[in-house]
Amino acid sequence: MHDSQLTKAEIEQLTDADWRQRLSPEEYQVLRQKGTERPFTGIYNEVKKDGIYRCRGCGAKLFDTRHQFNAGCGWPSFDATLDKSAVDEHVDTSHDMRRVEVTCSHCGGHLGHVFPDGPKETTGLRYCINSVSIALDTEVQT
Ligand SMILES: [Zn+2]
Repeated sequence: MHDSQLTKAEIEQLTDADWRQRLSPEEYQVLRQKGTERPFTGIYNEVKKDGIYRCRGCGAKLFDTRHQFNAGCGWPSFDATLDKSAVDEHVDTSHDMRRVEVTCSHCGGHLGHVFPDGPKETTGLRYCINSVSIALDTEVQT
């Protein structure tokens, strides 16, 4: 588990070979190569414990379990990020679709996509995130 967060300076030093060494093959494929884990396979598909999800690439705090909901789509889903600056959003037109990609604003790691079909009573957004790109931290206080 990552109990601390890499600094921007540390992240800038990391080469592709360093990332391969730091991450498991699955984590590397998602975070650094924009892969997608198979639906219903991720360990965080259901909320089991409260806490804060950190980026598996760099340890930055990204999502709160209080904003996680069961979208039934097969990936952890959130109606909001921990704070607005936690992620960056980019238009992604790969696979003949127009989607909005979500990346960690700290290390640039790919997390998933955000869709406008979330719960209407809150934000209307669904951040659809790969389990392998995040790590639940149940110790952190918010
Ligand atoms: Zn990160």
